[in-house]
Amino acid sequence: VRRAEVFRSKQGIDLRTGHRVQGIDRRTRSVYGKTLEGQSFIQPYDRLLIATGASAVMPRLPGADAPGVVALKTLEDGRRIKALLAGGGLRRVVILGMGYVALEMAESLRKIDLDVALVKPNPVFAPGLAPELAQAVRAELERHEVEVYAGHRPERIESTDRGLSVVCADTEFSGQMVLAAMGVTPNSGLAKDAGLELSVSDSVAVDRSLRTSDPAVFSAGDCADAFHVVSGQKTWIPLALRANRAGWAAADNACGGETELDGVAGTAVFRVFDLEVARTGLTAPEAAAAGFEPVESTITSSTRAHSFPGASTLWVSAVGDKKTGRLLGMQIVGRDGAAHRVNAAAVALHTGLSVAQFFQTDLAYAPPFGPAWDPMLTAANQLLKQLKPR
Ligand SMILES: Cc1cc2nc3c(=O)[nH]c(=O)nc-3n(C[C@H](O)[C@H](O)[C@H](O)COP(=O)(O)OP(=O)(O)OC[C@H]3O[C@@H](n4cnc5c(N)ncnc54)[C@H](O)[C@@H]3O)c2cc1C
Repeated sequence: VRRAEVFRSKQGIDLRTGHRVQGIDRRTRSVYGKTLEGQSFIQPYDRLLIATGASAVMPRLPGADAPGVVALKTLEDGRRIKALLAGGGLRRVVILGMGYVALEMAESLRKIDLDVALVKPNPVFAPGLAPELAQAVRAELERHEVEVYAGHRPERIESTDRGLSVVCADTEFSGQMVLAAMGVTPNSGLAKDAGLELSVSDSVAVDRSLRTSDPAVFSAGDCADAFHVVSGQKTWIPLALRANRAGWAAADNACGGETELDGVAGTAVFRVFDLEVARTGLTAPEAAAAGFEPVESTITSSTRAHSFPGASTLWVSAVGDKKTGRLLGMQIVGRDGAAHRVNAAAVALHTGLSVAQFFQTDLAYAPPFGPAWDPMLTAANQLLKQLKPR
C-alpha cells in the first residue's frame, strides 16, 4: 500500500522492518527483540501500541509440514502460492475450510482451470448464514464445479507420488496443493506474556479508547477485541475497517487525544463467482447466545424491478428481538451490487432501530436497482409479522 521509505522520508516515522519484538518489559517501559540478522535490540517507550495482527490457523495434523501445504495470510504466503502455481504440475487443490478466504480462493483457482475441493469437519456448509442463503452460495460454488465436502474431519496429510492426500476417517482428498483456510488467531502472545488482560478468543482486551489493562499500552487491529454495538458485549471480529479505525483512534489517544469507538456491527461482505454475500449484526444463534429472543425471517426478492430485464434472485434474512422489537441483524445474498445494500442495515444497528422503525425508512428505488419495496424492507415487514402476530 505504501513503501517503507515513504514513512521514513515523508512522515518522519522511524520505521524498522526486519525487527521482531520478542517481549515487553512493562516495568522499564521497553520492548526487546531480534533483527533478521540476529542482532538484539531494546526500544524504550512512553506509550506502546500492540498491533501485531493475527496468524493463520494451521492444521495440526501429521504431514501438515509438507511443502505443498500453505496458508494465505502474509505476503510471503501469497508469493509461496504463486511459486507453486508457476512451478506447474498443479491440477487439483484441496482447501481446508469454507470461510470467505476459502471461497475467494476457490473462485481464483477455478478461474485458472484448477480443480478445487473444499473440505471441513462441520457438516453445516456456512453456519454464519441463514440456511436458504447458505444454500444459494453452495449452489453457486457447485455451478462452477467446486467440490464441497462438509462433514469430513482430516486426520493426516500424506505425501504421495501424485502429490498430497488429505486423509479423513471415511475418505481421502488428493491434490498437489493443500490450502489451509481455517481462520485466524490473534497474535496476542506478547501481551499475554507481559501480563495484560486477554479477552474473547484470546484477543487483547481493550476499552473504548483502545487502552489495554495497562494505561500506557494500547492495542488495535486483528490482535485486539472490540465492543459489539448490538449485544454491547466484547467480541473479536478481525476485519480491515475496524483495524484501520482502531489504529487511528489508538494513535490519537497515545498522543493525548480522547477518541472513543462505539464498536463493530460485524458488517462483512465478499464475492464468490457472480454471487455477493453480506451480513451485519447477529445471526439468530448468536443473538440467542447474547441473551436476545431472536426471530428470523428469510425472503426472496429481485435485484431489479419485476418488469426490468436482467433481474435475478436476491435473498434477504432479517433477525429481530421478540422482547424489544429491535433489529438485530441482516444478511443478503445476490448479484449485481446487491450486497452493499447491507450498509443501510448496519447504520440501523448502530443507531439501535427497531424492526418497525427500519421498515419506515425511505430507501431509494428505480427499476434497474430493485423493486419499489427494497428487499430489506420486505424482509423487515415479514419479520414484523412474526414479532407481532395479528
Ligand atoms: C486473504 C485475506 C483476505 C482478506 N480480505 C478482507 C476483506 O475483504 N475485508 C476485510 O475487512 N478484511 C479482510 N481481511 C482481513 C484484513 O486483512 C485484516 O483485518 C487487517 O489486515 C488487520 O490489520 P492489522 O494491522 O491488525 O494486522 P496485520 O495487517 O496482520 O499487521 C500486523 C503486523 O504486525 C507485525 N508483527 C506481528 N508480530 C510482530 C512482532 N512480534 N514484532 C514486530 N512486528 C510484528 C506483522 O509483521 C504485521 O506487519 C483479509 C485477510 C486475509 C488474510
